[in-house]
Amino acid sequence: MLRITDLRLPLDHSERALTDAVLARLRIDAADLTGFTVAKRSYDARKRGGIVLIYSLDVDTPREAELLAREQAGVEPAASSKRDKGPADTSKVLRTPDTEYKFVARAPAALPLRPIVIGMGPCGLFVGLVLAQMGFRPIILERGKAVRERTVDTFGLWRKRVLNPESNVQFGEGGAGTFSDGKLYSQISDKQHHGRKVLTEFVKAGAPEEILYVSKPHIGTFRLVSMVENMRATIESLGGEIRFSQRVEDVLIEDGKVRGVSLADGQQLRADHVVFAIGHSARDTFAMLHQRGVFMEAKPFSIGFRIEHPQSLIDAARFGPQAGHPILGAADYKLVHHCRNGRSVYSFCMCPGGTVVAAASEPGRVVTNGMSQYSRNERNANAAIVVGITPEDYKAYDDSGSPLAGVALQRHWEAQAFALGGGEYEAPGQTVGDFLAGRASTALGAVQPSYTPGVRLSDLSASLPDYAIAAIREALPAFDKQIKGFALPDAMLTGVETRTSSPVRITRGADGHSLNTRGLFPAGEGAGYAGGILSAAVDGIRTAEAVALSILGDAARA
Ligand code: FAD
Repeated sequence: MLRITDLRLPLDHSERALTDAVLARLRIDAADLTGFTVAKRSYDARKRGGIVLIYSLDVDTPREAELLAREQAGVEPAASSKRDKGPADTSKVLRTPDTEYKFVARAPAALPLRPIVIGMGPCGLFVGLVLAQMGFRPIILERGKAVRERTVDTFGLWRKRVLNPESNVQFGEGGAGTFSDGKLYSQISDKQHHGRKVLTEFVKAGAPEEILYVSKPHIGTFRLVSMVENMRATIESLGGEIRFSQRVEDVLIEDGKVRGVSLADGQQLRADHVVFAIGHSARDTFAMLHQRGVFMEAKPFSIGFRIEHPQSLIDAARFGPQAGHPILGAADYKLVHHCRNGRSVYSFCMCPGGTVVAAASEPGRVVTNGMSQYSRNERNANAAIVVGITPEDYKAYDDSGSPLAGVALQRHWEAQAFALGGGEYEAPGQTVGDFLAGRASTALGAVQPSYTPGVRLSDLSASLPDYAIAAIREALPAFDKQIKGFALPDAMLTGVETRTSSPVRITRGADGHSLNTRGLFPAGEGAGYAGGILSAAVDGIRTAEAVALSILGDAARA
């Protein structure tokens, strides 16, 4: 197959135009075109009213070798093809890369001890799936409940203000991203195409096929629930085992090597290979690992608020007269501003047409995040607007030198948000106009906040450190220059966003083992090796490979 990359066509092109563009680009007749599929579709919206679709296509033609040789010899595409396509032709023709996943190992017939995977978020799910596919029959231990029961508990907080600390937005089958926008893109380097394996498995589990080719795929929360169930069934059918409501409370380490884990109900499980895919909110488990001497270090993360605008405002600013086009869907954005005080403010986890959600996992604390359905047709657009912070900033909350000082900072401001929200899990909120003017809000404007169980109008300057408030006050008008209306006085801020990524890194070596504890594999977002669903899942695949190779190495030495 040949891959044509960067083929540009106007937004409203006809179906036939794509075929014509292929024929023109390759300078072949229709008889030489067996067929083609879309490998990737993105858009360039920089030119107002002139949005261009950008395709990568996989083309099947009997003249493949000849065309590839011609391309490699550097022969320019025909002038006529450049003229026909309208938008400038920067396309290239290459051999279609082989993106099929290749397993690195196969379990030995007699497996001494089964590997244990702690956590069933996207990382643990893919560690478990790939280990099961290689025949290693993993045991997955998840502190939260199976996804349907977990949904009931999560709605318990959103609708009835009842938080279950073991079953919530952060904890339970599917992990933190289950009630989310289900955005599936990442900027990680992925030379081995592990991301493709993740997307392919998601499609097998029920995700829409388009996630395989659109540039910014998303699934939405509704489908994620059944996908997670289907993946669980696959793991079980391959001999894996999944145990819910099983919180790992301790790790057994002898002579610098893992020997097993202890569970909250008193059980002990022996294992020489234990993956910790525990996410960024397992603060008790971080503390336990630290106490047991597992090497970890504080790492930077970000704090801020959720901002909500009418989605129509974002669509108009991004797409102009082409807003509402079905291929484009609800518009997103990505913004960065470098402030005078040296801080950087950026938008994060933007959820077009979605809602702001309560994402606390500890009693007496308020945390925000965002989610949406596949249709993304709620009235508001929301995104986190966050300020980067570093371990230097954590010392004001814990100056003991502990790698967990970032957790102290998070807890401080999450408790403050809880208090400002009135102590019943409402979140403090303020209009952008009032926030910029430095006065507490007393009335909502046109933008209704979507956070449930509710928003209490407040002065958000008391909900984050002064440097963060100053940075966000400077950034919002700067963002307004990029997206007209971003600093709309009626836009709504809800606080606080403190779980953007893990405050610690449980450092591992190139072989995937913890730096000082053999057999302990820190993985995913909680260990500081991923940020988001796709990158956590990719890290899960890499970790499964590391575990498999380690088991085979041990077996060969025995
Ligand atoms: P997690 O998903 O956090 O999973 C860790 C699991 O480990 C949890 O299920 C937890 O219960 C379990 N666990 C923890 N400690 C123990 C223990 N001691 N014993 C047993 N089990 C334990 N990312 C995106 O890319 N796109 C999005 O649209 C998106 N939206 C989001 C929306 C929300 C509301 C939230 C909260 C997050 C969102 N994210 C999104 C972030 C994404 O969910 C995370 O990056 C991802 O889930 C991290 O995967 P993980 O497997 O490393 O950890």
